[in-house]
Amino acid sequence: MTKLLSGKIAAVTGAASGIGLATTQALIKAGAQVVLIDKDERALNAACEGHSGSAIPLVADLLNVEQCKQLADNILALVSYVDIFHANAGIYIGGDLVDADLDHIDRMLQLNINVVFKNVRSIIPHMIERKTGDIIVTSSLAGHSAVLHEPVYSPSKWATHSFVQIMRRQLLPHGIRVGSVSPGPVSSALLADWPEENLRKAKENGSLIEPSEIADAVLYMLTRPRNVTIRDMVIIPSSFDL
Ligand code: NAD
Repeated sequence: MTKLLSGKIAAVTGAASGIGLATTQALIKAGAQVVLIDKDERALNAACEGHSGSAIPLVADLLNVEQCKQLADNILALVSYVDIFHANAGIYIGGDLVDADLDHIDRMLQLNINVVFKNVRSIIPHMIERKTGDIIVTSSLAGHSAVLHEPVYSPSKWATHSFVQIMRRQLLPHGIRVGSVSPGPVSSALLADWPEENLRKAKENGSLIEPSEIADAVLYMLTRPRNVTIRDMVIIPSSFDL
């Protein structure tokens, strides 16, 4: 039986854990072949286990200037084309601005914004040449609302929204769709740096979403007819108090 994404090739950054891992699994289940990109080699190999042929690991630290620059070339050395690029890798380091470590600020802004711009920039010529492609960026509810009180993380995600809107318009004439997914708190390793009190409350209220919910949303966007683009899907638990 032909699956929804049979014959499609995807590349997902931050694919060894959380949302990226769940999305990868959903894409493979839907018939796609996936290049999993992550800096964590051990977790990456574990994520690929049992998916021989459908899951191809690519170890890359996207905060490394050279490895980031080489990303599209390295993906295209493994597969002959890319239909779907999911710019998902991101980090969260919480805390007040005045207390924040300057190096943490740099790393968070670098990965959550600059690397997204650079990764998308590097894959666009390939998609334009093929006159087709889908780009999904993992943003965040924090990029829509100041209620989460995150002076660095929120702006880093906020920036992805204008990027997605502009790229969506610019790439539409080339047959390329650009969208984003904006989750509320998701049960993943990323929340290890969340204030303990927030995490405890979120668990008590049932206001943590599973990574598979976000993966389902990504799959929904990707499997719309090609004349339909979804700009952004905000996914928050119904119990979340905004
Ligand atoms: P996670 O920590 O479970 O997974 C992130 C993955 O990215 C890890 O496998 C990690 O090794 C990889 N990674 C980190 N730095 C990297 C680098 N320099 N180069 C390559 N890979 C790197 O986190 P997650 O919750 O799955 O987060 C994925 C995305 O979702 C992020 O962009 C995050 O900001 C966003 N997001 C998360 C939440 C949440 O509550 N967990 C909510 C909204 C948005």
